[in-house]
Order: sequence, then C-alpha cells, then structure tokens
Amino acid sequence: MSVYDYAIASPAEHLIEDILTMIQEKDAGQPEFHQAVKEVLTSLEPTIDKHPEFVKAKIYERIVIPDRVLMFRVPWVDDNGDVQINRGFRVQFNNAIGPYKGGLRLHPSVNLGIIKFLGFEQVFKNALTTLPMGGGKGGSDFDPKGKSDMEVMRFCQAFMLELYRHIGPDVDVPAGDIGVGGREIGYLYGQYKKIVNQHACVLTGKGLEYGGSLIRPEATGYGAVYFAAEMLATRHKDIKGTVSAVSASGNVAQYTVEKLLQLGGKVITLSDSNGTIVDEEGIDQEKLNFVLELKNVRRGRIVEYADRYNALYYPNKNVWDVIRQEGLAVDLAFPSAHENEIDGQNAAALVKNGCYCVSEGANMPSTLEAIEIFLDNNVLYGPAKAANAGGVATSGLEMSQNSMRLSWSREEVDQRLHGIMKSIHRSCLEAAETYGKKGNYLVGANIAGFVKVANAMLAYGIV
Ligand code: NDP
Repeated sequence: MSVYDYAIASPAEHLIEDILTMIQEKDAGQPEFHQAVKEVLTSLEPTIDKHPEFVKAKIYERIVIPDRVLMFRVPWVDDNGDVQINRGFRVQFNNAIGPYKGGLRLHPSVNLGIIKFLGFEQVFKNALTTLPMGGGKGGSDFDPKGKSDMEVMRFCQAFMLELYRHIGPDVDVPAGDIGVGGREIGYLYGQYKKIVNQHACVLTGKGLEYGGSLIRPEATGYGAVYFAAEMLATRHKDIKGTVSAVSASGNVAQYTVEKLLQLGGKVITLSDSNGTIVDEEGIDQEKLNFVLELKNVRRGRIVEYADRYNALYYPNKNVWDVIRQEGLAVDLAFPSAHENEIDGQNAAALVKNGCYCVSEGANMPSTLEAIEIFLDNNVLYGPAKAANAGGVATSGLEMSQNSMRLSWSREEVDQRLHGIMKSIHRSCLEAAETYGKKGNYLVGANIAGFVKVANAMLAYGIV
C-alpha cells in the first residue's frame, strides 16, 4: 500500500472547479491570485487523467497553498524626520525543487494577493528554467518614486531587518522586480551583510563588484526576445524587418528593445505610468541610451523622449490603448509593464492591426479574455512564465557562479541564457503535444512546469 492510498480523490471532472471555489472562499479579496490559479489549473486539465497519482496525493489542492506567508511591519524615517510605515511581504510558495527564488516588488499597489499571484507563477516558471529553484515572491507597498536615495536606503535597511531571518543561500534567494533594481539590491545586500557578517548569495541582481553576474540586468528582456524568435522560427519567420510595440520603459522594456534592435527589428513604442510615446521612425540605439540615462540615472518621465525626439506623446494612455485608438500596425508585441495591461478589447485590436506574436516580458500582462483572443486567432502567444523566465534563469546562473566563486564572461552567460530560452521553448512545445494541445504554449508551459514540481512533491510523501 502506498502512502497515498488513504486519500480520496475528487472526481477529475470536478477537481479544478472545486479548487477554484475553495480559493475564492478561503483566499477572498485576492483577484489576481484567483486569476493566476484559474489560468494554470484550467490548462492542467489534460494531466488529470494521465496522472491519477497526482490526484490521489492531492497535488492539485496542495500546490495552490503557499508553504509559508510572511507579513511584517516596515517602519522608517523620511528626510523630514517623520515616521513612515509600510507593509512587507514574503511568500515562500513552494520549494519542492530548490530554494525559494523570486523577486521583490516595491510599488504602492502591492498587497498579499499580488505577491501570492507572483509567487504562484514563479513556481512553474522556475521549474521551466531547468535549474533547481523553488518559487517565492515578496515586496512592499513602499513607493520609491519621488523618494531620495537616503529614503530608499533607510526603507531597504528596515525591510531587510526583518527579511534577513527568513532568507539564505539554501533557503530563499530574492531578486529585483518592479521598483527594485541595482540601487535597491545594493542597499538590501549591504544591510544583510552588516547584520549576519557574512558574504552569502542571498540576493541576485547584485552589482558586479560584489558577486553579480554579467547579463543579469539584460536577461529578462533579452530572454523575451529569444523566446519570440523561437516562436517565429516555427513559422519560418524571424525578428529582422519586424515592427514591435514594447510597453513600459523599465528594466525589462529597455533590454527587450536593445535585443530587438540587435536582431534587426524596429520598435515604435515605450511608456511609463504617465503616458505612451510613439516614434514611427523607430527607437534606435542612441535614443535607447537616452532612455537608459533618463530612467536609470535621472529617474525621469518618458514624456522627455517625446520632447527630445519629436515623437508623439499620449498622456494617461497605455501602449495598447494607443495602438487600438490610432490603428497602429505592429507585427510583435512585448508587454513589459504590469499585470492585466492588455484587456480583451486591446487584444482584439492588436489582432486586427496585424500582430501575430506576443511575448510576455511582464508577469500576467494579458487578461484571461485577451489570452483567449490571441489563441483563437492563431497568434504565437508566449506566456510570461516561459517568455520572461530568462531573468530568473540568469539569477540561477548568478547563484552558480557565486557557489563556484568565479565569474563567467558576458558571452558565456548570454550563450547559456540563449540555450535555456531554447530549451524552455522546446519543453513547452513537447508538453503541449504530449497532452493533446499541439502548438499551445500556454498549456505547454503550465504542464511542463507543473509535472516537474508535482513529481518532486510526490517523492516527498505527505509533507
Ligand atoms: P521596473 O521597475 O524596472 O519598470 C517598471 C515599468 O513598468 C516602468 O516603466 C513603470 O512606469 C511601468 N509600470 C509599472 N507599474 C505600472 C502601472 N501600474 N501602470 C503603468 N505603468 C506601470 O520593473 P521591471 O521592468 O523589472 O518589471 C516589469 C514587469 O516585468 C513586471 O511585471 C515584473 O514582474 C516583470 N518581470 C521582471 C523581471 C526582472 O528581471 N526585472 C523578471 C520577470 C518578470 P513608472 O516608472 O511610471 O512606474
């Protein structure tokens, strides 16, 4: 008798529905988490008949509940001497295949539901990378925008004063996400090192001088383009000569544009939370350098691009609204800002305007309705957990280099990143075909990631 024999499985056909109802009741008020679970579980349906052992061990029910949720108070003092208080989160979702790994987000919209959706997605994404990493995510409702360097530093130090107890090179290794780049990782790591008096790989995205990896800043954007190139190759197309829309102008967007330019593509849009620019002539490397300086050094607004290069500027509109309203023709779309930025209406407009490939740099940027429209219209749709996995994969490479106490060259890391993106693409296609959904990257990514984690969970017994 196996250890799972006592479990009474739900009938397969009701299983997913029952779990979705369960999380809606028990995890009320977390719409983004519900959305992410619905997207994943619905596409896991073909695994239920093939894997009665997963059903019996209640893997489907167990995988939607985090291993651990940490919530804490982050008090700090601003430049006026006033006390400020934020909420800190770290959700350690699943460490079946390796230490928890996933970024920290600093944005006023951060709440438990958002961090849980990101942590849940991360479990499958990390499994897809081929590296041994579990899934986690964290952050705070702190808004770095408009804060001085000293305020950001004091916040990061206060945040780490609690987080340090819960992380470790073999336990949990956070990284960056929205609002957390090189500056923030430096302050967080400095505080960690001060508290524990140790150099240890507890964060990735570190500076090169203290253990960072070449290509880590570029990795998510480069990876999203590599993934798009793989998808295009299945239809005997490539990036060269295509026109792309890229949203946002942060880390992911910047290096998506850079790789598209290197591969001979043209990019006509960028945005931030204040508005969108359209540059019909194309954003070239010199203009991109201006954006890098504007966003990473001066921390300014994208409207400055429009002023300097005589581009069109649409205040208070996102890229996808502008494409719909102006009827802009694009071949490829790289949403790189935030969750649910492309709704059904805008997905339909993209299809109408000729877009045939979407590679998601941001996490869950397309609503469920938008995804359905892409799939129904035969758009090459690369879901976030596959298309943007290059970032965390390169974080995994940073961990490997730290463990070996050596640094790989730029070319070597880029080559490994490229190889990993090809392998993720292959796994998605193979899993989709094996489970009867040929060519469906969404189903392929979810199933390939899930099966690996589920098998590990099964091996551990009921824990
Ligand atoms: P950054 O903080 O570097 O940039 C975020 C960009 O998105 C900015 O241009 C920001 O504009 C815009 N943005 C964020 N929130 C909103 C909003 N609510 N409305 C409009 N614009 C918004 O973050 P990243 O580039 O690192 O992250 C972007 C996306 O990529 C996120 O979904 C993240 O989870 C995902 N991702 C990131 C990875 C990484 O390695 N960094 C890895 C995998 C996924 P503004 O400055 O005005 O706020």
